[in-house]
Amino acid sequence: MPQRVAVVENILGANDRLADENRARLDAAGVLGLNLMASPGAGKTSLIEHTVRALAGRLRLAVIDGDIATSLDADRAAAAGATAVQINTGGECHLDAVMVQGALGQLDLTGLDLLIVENVGNLVCPASFRLGTHHSVLIASVPEGDDKPYKYPGMYRGVDVLLINKTDLLPYVTFDMARFRQGVEILNPGVRTFAVSCRTGEGLPAWLDWVQAAAAEGRRGAA
Ligand code: MG
Ligand code: ZN
Repeated sequence: MPQRVAVVENILGANDRLADENRARLDAAGVLGLNLMASPGAGKTSLIEHTVRALAGRLRLAVIDGDIATSLDADRAAAAGATAVQINTGGECHLDAVMVQGALGQLDLTGLDLLIVENVGNLVCPASFRLGTHHSVLIASVPEGDDKPYKYPGMYRGVDVLLINKTDLLPYVTFDMARFRQGVEILNPGVRTFAVSCRTGEGLPAWLDWVQAAAAEGRRGAA
């Protein structure tokens, strides 16, 4: 048992060092990096499509798409107008810093303002692997149910921004917003939260404002 714990700690330690290197590259180029996490189907790719279309002409944006197989999501990001790099994880259920490092090598960072990393759809292990991005963004969605903060505390505890997507479905599904928010508040008090619908566009302007402000901060901090 202790041996196995040591191995896991070494892997995470190596990942952290690479994440720091990734962060240094982003900082040097003045690129804001976002690590977008969610369960499958919560709306990561839809949010990326909206964000790319809305900010075209204002921010130079690239997407790194992590998927177990296929390039469907990277294709959607590219169709929306982003530079897109696909990572096929070969069965791994999360991205790690070395995968992101490889993808960064395919991008001209000096020509970018914003990098969105779409993690593999999974509410468990993506939370354990730092990528070197500046903010961790979690998308929850109404059809998943209001119990998710209680069931996946590791994910909800570690994120900087929370989106609650598919609010247009609130009249049709059982989702107690107060219970959901209470669970979040216990784990991550005061976390910046946006309630949105990627289908109707409701709530997205506030998210876009936040992204632009955060990207401007990244440029000011660039060496
Ligand atoms: Mg997706
Ligand atoms: Zn995993």
